[in-house]
Amino acid sequence: MIAKNRSIPKEVRIYQAIVSRLPINHPRKAELESRLARKRAGYKGEKELDYHISQIDHSKLTILHDLRIPFNDTHFQIDSLLISNSLIIPIDSKYYAGTLEFYPEFNQMIQYLNGNEKVYPDPVLQTKIQARQLKAFLISHQYSPPPIEPFVAITHSQAIIKNPTQNKEVSQRVFKSPGIFYKINPYLVKYQNEIISDQETKKIVKFLLKKNKPYIPDLKALNLPYDDLQKGVECPACNTFGMERFHSLWGCKRCGHISKDAHIAALKDYFLINGQSINNGQFRDFLGISSIHQSRRMLSRLDLNRSGEKKGRVYTPGKTFPLWD
Ligand SMILES: [Zn+2]
Repeated sequence: MIAKNRSIPKEVRIYQAIVSRLPINHPRKAELESRLARKRAGYKGEKELDYHISQIDHSKLTILHDLRIPFNDTHFQIDSLLISNSLIIPIDSKYYAGTLEFYPEFNQMIQYLNGNEKVYPDPVLQTKIQARQLKAFLISHQYSPPPIEPFVAITHSQAIIKNPTQNKEVSQRVFKSPGIFYKINPYLVKYQNEIISDQETKKIVKFLLKKNKPYIPDLKALNLPYDDLQKGVECPACNTFGMERFHSLWGCKRCGHISKDAHIAALKDYFLINGQSINNGQFRDFLGISSIHQSRRMLSRLDLNRSGEKKGRVYTPGKTFPLWD
């Protein structure tokens, strides 16, 4: 059973909004486009892993994707978690290209890519730390979890995995997505005794879902070129910015396309780029609307939460105004 699916990373949505509004010749266009491409590729790798996980017989397993659990003033993240009555399997997925050499005795992994050499923390150690944190977290909340056996998935299909010191743990715990079944099956066979009841397993799953705290990117840390972003409503037909409002419709000067609701995408972009609140003045400025009454009417027709009165009123996305889909 899949108890929690993976959704598009929030950074992908944010970078999409930014890249589409950055002028073609902007000096940071290439950099931001490549950040977006990297995030998208990582997500694609995770979705592929999800597919291979879904192919395993999971009649006795509950699967949770993309968990982020607050723990000791910080968070630990688990890309995929498989839970049964006998065993818990956290999987950390790594989207690394090139040749990856594991050196667990020095807590490092070296990536060779396009003539460059780069060192990363040992992913096996990282996933073991996450497993330990998960165990401590569950115990601290009076749960008695079954054994936890962590794994590392290398989700880049072109990656070459090497284990020069023939470390046993690397060969047992690291796999490429399509090989998942053959890596975890020995553990599924080894741990067949039911340690906890169905009810206890369900309780743990429910508790993890309740404690999950999705990551919200810190927009300030992204250091975005706010002043250079194009404002206005984008034409859904030709992608030109600056549709004009007339008779409660949007018209494109370039291609003549008419739209009823092109402002919704623009407002979503605003929330993604600037944070999740807007006032009437900001709405008019960003969408290019001159009438305060018209903009108030438009805002009132959308599913937004309102707070404050008159000039101090701000709008935030409502439940059916999804930003992250
Ligand atoms: Zn157009």
